[in-house]
Amino acid sequence: MTLPKVLLVEDEPGLRLTLSDRLASEGYAVETAADGEAGLARAASGGYDLIVLDVMLPRMNGFDVCREVRQRGVATPILMLTARGQVVDKVVGLKLGADDYLTKPFEAIELMARLEALLRRRPSSPQAGGESYRFGEVAVDFRRMEVTREGQPVDLSAREFKLLRHFIEHRGATLSRDALLTDVWGYDEMPMTRTVDVHVAGLRQKIEPNPRSPEYILTVHGLGYKFVG
Ligand code: CA
Repeated sequence: MTLPKVLLVEDEPGLRLTLSDRLASEGYAVETAADGEAGLARAASGGYDLIVLDVMLPRMNGFDVCREVRQRGVATPILMLTARGQVVDKVVGLKLGADDYLTKPFEAIELMARLEALLRRRPSSPQAGGESYRFGEVAVDFRRMEVTREGQPVDLSAREFKLLRHFIEHRGATLSRDALLTDVWGYDEMPMTRTVDVHVAGLRQKIEPNPRSPEYILTVHGLGYKFVG
């Protein structure tokens, strides 16, 4: 079983260390960031089950990080850490897409309980609630099923759009050709896994700055593909 992965964005070194140790001892895989920009970069890369986000951070505050993470379509549950007395923080944080908050100082056991609760109710699809997604110069509007690149419309077939959406919903995960056929094409059994390669190649032509050297849809040799936009 893989450990639930937590991103902890906290600038106070002491608290960062204490919480990391505690989270690790509770069975979480922990990664940390010490300022807002670094936190956003990690959070936006996806692949986390939970994000613990301090509000008062250098470089970029937690509210801005939260808003930006959500705008990029990342639906990972976010628990924000606010300072005592900042009642307004709770409202603002929840409006921006945070899932829960905790006021400092808090007991570690309280944080663990909140995180467990968030893990239990996390969405099955990372895209739940997201209406758009951006990576590089590409913008995807899920509701209108429209894609633009550098502001220009990109003409995707329905299958290519479905494939791209699936990649985005599973960003950071390695997806085998068989799994893609089942999930995107809907075939339980399909002799031509080459179909996937053909469509991935087509998609790369349309969204990659350099299709010969993909930045977003990566080939994982012997396994399949991974979207990292
Ligand atoms: Ca802080």
